[in-house]
Amino acid sequence: MIYLDNNATTPVDPRVLEAMLPFLGEQAGNPSSPHAPGRAARAAMERAREQVAAMLGARADEIVFTGGGTESINTAIRGALAAQPGKRRIVTSSIEHSATMNLCAQLEREGFQVVRLPVDRGGRPDLEEYRNALGDDVALVTFIWANNETGVLFPVEEMAALADERRIVCHIDAVQAAGKVPIDLGHVHAHMVSLSAHKFHGPKGVGALFVRSGLGLPPLLRGGGQESGRRAGTENVPGIVGLGEAAELAVAALPAEMPRVATLRDDFEAGVRERFSDARFHGDTAHRLPNTTNFALPGFDAQSLLAGLDRLGVACSVGSACTSGEVDASHVLRAMGVGDEEARSSLRFSFSRMNSAREVPAALAALEQAASRLAPRGLGD
Ligand code: PLP
Repeated sequence: MIYLDNNATTPVDPRVLEAMLPFLGEQAGNPSSPHAPGRAARAAMERAREQVAAMLGARADEIVFTGGGTESINTAIRGALAAQPGKRRIVTSSIEHSATMNLCAQLEREGFQVVRLPVDRGGRPDLEEYRNALGDDVALVTFIWANNETGVLFPVEEMAALADERRIVCHIDAVQAAGKVPIDLGHVHAHMVSLSAHKFHGPKGVGALFVRSGLGLPPLLRGGGQESGRRAGTENVPGIVGLGEAAELAVAALPAEMPRVATLRDDFEAGVRERFSDARFHGDTAHRLPNTTNFALPGFDAQSLLAGLDRLGVACSVGSACTSGEVDASHVLRAMGVGDEEARSSLRFSFSRMNSAREVPAALAALEQAASRLAPRGLGD
């Protein structure tokens, strides 16, 4: 299997698994217990907190462990609104992940006003329009650092600074950015940042929320006072240890892997162009994750191509994994001005440090073969 769906999830690094195993076995303490097994669990968890903080350029006490990206996002958004009951407006973008998008739709039903910034053809918002949306009644801005479908990066430093200047709480969904591009929250003045271990070779169902020091954040769940009262529930110690290890490994690998992975992706794109002269690539290539490509093969049905590739042993994606059951064309591509027909012809391939150069020609050959077995839509009828 050639796995090119790393924005959906990544394989766990064997070193991460090794670090986790003792905490699924004999190291069974509850980190809230004062005895030796409890203290050992707490020490492992606090080491992981340092590792995650180092990945973000943050302080360890600014890291709250959660049950993954979706929970972090819900905690950040709901928490910011609960802390400012007088403010009812949220500013976000039109290309958010479903975790943010569906929560914002729910908040609208609850009476909040949601401003969804449009994006240009490259998938980036207009900063002037963003600045104009930052009125006094805005409780929170929440936007994605790197889009999961296209890999396009938002101008996060400027966007966070503008919100900070206006004293508006700023949350960034960095689930796809973490581990793929450097993150330094010393420069990006966001107040909250979400991330998820399974996107950078850690385990599923565990993540973190960075909460800038001094920001009071009511917890989403009520229960015990774990995570300094910011996230109730006994901590997922093996998962947290895995998250910490994955963060450290990702940071160490980044300088060498970012350019290597970008070369794999660029070689793959060049091969697609050679084989399909009418391929249309989506997103601003100057501001993009190094691992992601998303393009339309006009006339082909992407779902059928994906099924054909799957039979040939290549895993890729149509839109995002979370929305692949949807009949609608990708909301991200549509917001970028891509027509429904073209969006339905679009595939995403996402690489990781576990991919090798040998896989690029093999995946290209499989794509060519899958396409040759399908009659392009509109031809022959
Ligand atoms: N945000 C983005 C940009 C994502 O790609 C994902 C992954 O699916 C999430 C949030 C949700 O993260 P999780 O799967 O950990 O809930």
